[in-house]
Amino acid sequence: MTAKTLFTKIIDGEIPGDFVYRDDRIVAIRDIAPKAPTHILIIPVKPLVGVDVATAEDQALLGDLLLVGARLARELGLEAGGYRLVINTGADGGQSVPHLHVHLLGGRPLAWPPG
Ligand code: AMP
Repeated sequence: MTAKTLFTKIIDGEIPGDFVYRDDRIVAIRDIAPKAPTHILIIPVKPLVGVDVATAEDQALLGDLLLVGARLARELGLEAGGYRLVINTGADGGQSVPHLHVHLLGGRPLAWPPG
């Protein structure tokens, strides 16, 4: 059996997480080191390493991650000012946790392009 990822441990309640959304396939938690006034991680329960290993079987799940992000952005009052949904992939993409997640960032103007 492969080792549980950090996010699976949070989903399973072995490590604390500040949950803002949860259903049977997707959870969302507040990032422990926020890079913006609002910084949420939207995470599939299925421990896909990243979008690079997703298949057609994951198509609906990938779409739902974005829909949950947009819904949370609305609920958290980010819609008027705008926000960013980001998926970091691999070392050059800045991914540090090998369990797919979408960052929802908002609450201040965000630089583009990122550094
Ligand atoms: P990434 O660098 O794209 O893989 O994003 C991983 C994110 O997980 C970073 O923004 C971290 O701050 C965040 N993170 C790491 N550990 C925790 C934790 N225990 N609870 C919530 N967020 C975490």
